[in-house]
Amino acid sequence: MSLIVQKFGGTSVKDAKRLMNVANIVTQKYKEGNDVVVVVSAQGDTTDDLIEKAAEINSNPSKREMDMLLSSGEQISASLLAMAIQKLGCPSVSLTGWQAGFSTTSVHTSARIKDVNPERIRSELDSKKIVVVTGFQGLSKYDDITTLGRGGSDTSAVAIAAAMHADLCQIYTDVEGVFTADPRKVPNAKKLKEISYDEMLELATLGAQVLNNRSVEMAKKYNIELEVLSSLTNKPGTIVKEKVKMEKMLISGVAKDTDVARVSITRIPDQPGIAFKLFSSLAAKNINVDVILQSIGRGDDTKDIAFTVPKDKGKEALKTVEDFANNYDAGEVQFDDNVAKISIVGAGMESHAGVAAKMFEALFEQQINIRMISTSEIKVSVIIAKDDADKAVSAIHNKFFPKAT
Ligand code: ADP
Ligand code: ASP
Ligand code: MG
Repeated sequence: MSLIVQKFGGTSVKDAKRLMNVANIVTQKYKEGNDVVVVVSAQGDTTDDLIEKAAEINSNPSKREMDMLLSSGEQISASLLAMAIQKLGCPSVSLTGWQAGFSTTSVHTSARIKDVNPERIRSELDSKKIVVVTGFQGLSKYDDITTLGRGGSDTSAVAIAAAMHADLCQIYTDVEGVFTADPRKVPNAKKLKEISYDEMLELATLGAQVLNNRSVEMAKKYNIELEVLSSLTNKPGTIVKEKVKMEKMLISGVAKDTDVARVSITRIPDQPGIAFKLFSSLAAKNINVDVILQSIGRGDDTKDIAFTVPKDKGKEALKTVEDFANNYDAGEVQFDDNVAKISIVGAGMESHAGVAAKMFEALFEQQINIRMISTSEIKVSVIIAKDDADKAVSAIHNKFFPKAT
């Protein structure tokens, strides 16, 4: 007998028919003699709809109340799924995040899981029930409901798998696994049989929303092997694990992130401590800076710096940099949120020269201008105009995964 954690995303539970489909998948594993814990997201676009409802009332709602509101989406799907399972003749109980023992930090709308106390889940499993847990939520030390940030249900599932030492953690979604690019945008993208935690973490962080990046971080930390697969087809998915067989692939995927804004400042003094002062004033406001570009100094002892930030921090970053520019009598400050970050990820690039050049060639062939570049051992990212983003992803994908093969 094994303990299996299965997570189902919004599309997989979007209506009664899909819920019955999920109930069939879940009860099959149960009838094979396994303990089954199911984690669910809110149905379809429920979370977006709830955010819209809040905006109709208040354009700047309190984050605590947002969590109270958003967590209700998962409560609906969890209770409905428990009813669907019961209809198929199996005992089931649904639990909210706090009933399931999730303690989180108290940062509303983007809380982090601190601990999962699985006592209640364990006792329900011991009484032979299929346990359905609401994803995406927990309880702060002030006994307030918190949510884990968009896509957080993946992390809820991995956290339960880690806390209960599950034998298998399956993330069911609306595509058949992790692909070399978003299969909805790049139809010839290939499904990967397996991918390492490190590569998946980069892909998820760089925009491939098929898995939430925190869930991958946690899976790596606790060595939980994940399977990403479709709830709609009965096919093997992608295994995410520590070490994968080296395939002859230079890269494992291309990702796109349009949640980026670019800020630049010209003619700042070319002297020690300037970067430190600029970026510490951004850090003080909790603004995460990503790609950074610094020019070489000019003859007049000035230089330029450009960097990217998440789009929702764009305006705050702009204000901070404008203040900085005034203090240092710098040149122009520019802001652009019509940009996208396109990245390639692959452990293969560590040992192969020319991977970045191949990416740049694909962009050149489409006459797409690169505005910034950043690299690490296993990724190369470029910042380009947002309008070119989809064309760039396809061109880069075709370069590394030619259509004929
Ligand atoms: P769920 O609701 O099941 O959590 P998500 O919408 O969060 O599903 O994630 C699944 C989606 O991720 C897919 O529909 C697909 O469009 C998108 N996606 C982006 N990049 C990739 C990729 N490299 N491989 C697979 N899917 C991807
Ligand atoms: N329902 C939440 C969202 O839409 C959490 C999740 O789906 O993982 O972001
Ligand atoms: Mg998701």
